[in-house]
Amino acid sequence: MEIVFATNNKHKLKEIQALMPEGIAILSLSDIGCTDEIEETEPTLEGNARLKADHVTKNYGYPCFSDDTGLEVEALNGAPGVYSARYAGEGATFENNMEKLLQQMEGQQNRFGRFRTVIALNIDDCQYLFEGICEGNILKQKQGTAGFGYDPVFQPKGYERTFAEMDMAEKGKISHRGQAIKKLIEFLKFLILNQKTSPYRSFNDVK
Ligand code: IMP
Repeated sequence: MEIVFATNNKHKLKEIQALMPEGIAILSLSDIGCTDEIEETEPTLEGNARLKADHVTKNYGYPCFSDDTGLEVEALNGAPGVYSARYAGEGATFENNMEKLLQQMEGQQNRFGRFRTVIALNIDDCQYLFEGICEGNILKQKQGTAGFGYDPVFQPKGYERTFAEMDMAEKGKISHRGQAIKKLIEFLKFLILNQKTSPYRSFNDVK
């Protein structure tokens, strides 16, 4: 079974390819000749994840999944949320966004925040959503240099270190994206198993 992952992020692609069960090949957008700029115009993570997966399935006919992630900070009424990548404006760097977050959080006692990832999967004419959440605190200053995005200011619940002080494997076990991917993979395994063992396996062959 071939499934497209609607991303241009090579890092994410590699990470997920390594985790896929036997029988599923992950294709990138470039593998299917898609160079379209798919704009994230929806006001929610769910909306953007669905929009990207739908674009590929509708225009290229492939089963497809897509992800969208945001950092939701309680004291900021859920900001930066769906706008996490461009919190400090269009073309902002990770550094710009983090600086803005630290600024907005100045004097705030409530430091609670959570990362949330939503994956939308289109397969067999159905759409499925998978969610992963990682709760934690926004620190007052940066700590650590690993990772990307808001990692240096995010300390997951139950840990003394930030995401930027963890290696990829450790972060992946507890992260929002790790959890959403795990749910997606469990579901795909279930689909494969079901196709192999279901008494209705030959349903499509019935004339
Ligand atoms: P995306 O949907 O995965 O592209 O994520 C959108 C934005 O959220 C990124 O540009 C980052 O600023 C932030 N982000 C997503 N995942 C993480 C993470 O694991 N650590 C820190 N920041 C993240």
